[in-house]
Amino acid sequence: MDFDAAYTMTINGAAVAGEARFPVLNPATEAVLGAAPDCTRAELDTAVAAARAAFPGWAATPVAERRAAILALSAAIAAHQDALSRLLTREQGKPQAEAMAEVQGAAWFLAGFTDIDLPVDVVEDAGRRFETHHVPIGVVGAISPWNFPVMLAMFKIGPALIAGNTMVLKPSPFAPLAALKIGEIARDILPPGVLNVVSGGDDLGPWLTAHPGIDKLSFTGSSATGRRVMESAAHSLKRVTLELGGNDAAIVLPDVDVQVVAEKLFWSAFANNGQICVATKRMYIHKDIYEPLKAAIVEYAKGVKVGDGSEQGTGIGPINNKQQYDRVIALIEDAKANGYDFLMGGDTARTEGYFIPITILDNPPETSRIVREEQFGPVLPLLRFDDIDEAVARANESEYGLAGSVWSGNEAAAVAVANRLGTGTVWINDLQALSPRAAFGGHRQSGLGIEGSVHGLLEYTLPRTVVTTLA
Ligand code: NAD
Repeated sequence: MDFDAAYTMTINGAAVAGEARFPVLNPATEAVLGAAPDCTRAELDTAVAAARAAFPGWAATPVAERRAAILALSAAIAAHQDALSRLLTREQGKPQAEAMAEVQGAAWFLAGFTDIDLPVDVVEDAGRRFETHHVPIGVVGAISPWNFPVMLAMFKIGPALIAGNTMVLKPSPFAPLAALKIGEIARDILPPGVLNVVSGGDDLGPWLTAHPGIDKLSFTGSSATGRRVMESAAHSLKRVTLELGGNDAAIVLPDVDVQVVAEKLFWSAFANNGQICVATKRMYIHKDIYEPLKAAIVEYAKGVKVGDGSEQGTGIGPINNKQQYDRVIALIEDAKANGYDFLMGGDTARTEGYFIPITILDNPPETSRIVREEQFGPVLPLLRFDDIDEAVARANESEYGLAGSVWSGNEAAAVAVANRLGTGTVWINDLQALSPRAAFGGHRQSGLGIEGSVHGLLEYTLPRTVVTTLA
């Protein structure tokens, strides 16, 4: 399989080059890396029709066979991990080690989803037996973002297909190539029409969400787009799962070992160049350790190399695309215009490639844009707090509620704080650990519904009550 060219859509198990194509850039060089098919409305109709035609057969396939197919896909992705991760670095920008971790993690998650059983609940069994079964919904329209284009596509493909649905997957136009290759890999593994992968520009997402042949939408992206997806879904009452934006707070208590946590805290904010839904985007540090921890984080940050992800030693790559680069630069310019203190970074000179230096701000106001908004880039505000009630209140004062973390040498104290955070996930002395068996989802405007765990699997099903009168 050629990972450097011939990027085709997968429709009904076959390669579709598309009538038109659009360029995909390497964000480290801004050079054109490849051309992706620009799916037309007619091609989307064909993909949806193929998924509809494949649905009855796939839904009737024993779940053990569906699981075996997903395990085979997981193994095939792992077998192509070198080529896939190199392609991922070139189209997304992340350093090679992170790209490899994403591809391996994607294969691991796919396999992990096959361990989860769909329950049949016997809810009453006297005279009559009432059972709740969970049946597949139909055709899933899956829309994924550019920050983890491989991993987040797998979060949808695994549970949706195991539950018996078929799918049309649309990756982001900023990073569609690895997902197109996974579609190609799946052609030999899944029956035609079960997994269709289409790529296109700004029209394709709205066409998909409005398509009458789609029964369920599974969307990962920004809260702003999530609202549009839900609005569009309302017209035909499509089911929706929305995994949206975040403004995660880390709360650091005074009893941490500053030297031990500095490195972990740094990466909780700057891994993948800050382009993680669950990155630490606001770091609340107790006043007693604010100065030493600030110094330790800045000291560590100075040793991290920002550069082309394909070069040895790069710790942080470029921002993935010009649109996001401009957003992050605007937040830095806003901080400068307001006279906030920079501990490092802040240089907004345009380079070749969408590079932004690691930027750390010293206690900007709680009302500043860099604290209130989701930066999704390498800019972190460090924020001083006096007492824990105040820190919890500030952390919870957000339209978002995706995740957060608490850092302390005392587990019971950390758990007590964690229990007060209004978020879907809380980590204690850890960063961004996820599991196929754990529920992941946002509170408030960070999302609707769950991925992972039996709850995530059930999102791809409808309950059906079966009542049997006992003889
Ligand atoms: P985005 O919302 O701009 O785009 C996401 C996807 O939606 C892309 O495939 C895009 O082409 C498509 N899209 C855009 N407009 C659409 C429309 N009107 N209808 C249908 N589809 C449309 O998000 P992004 O910039 O790609 O990703 C970054 C955002 O994603 C951040 O806010 C981040 O926090 C969030 N995110 C959330 C999670 C999570 O699991 N909660 C995971 C990763 C990223």
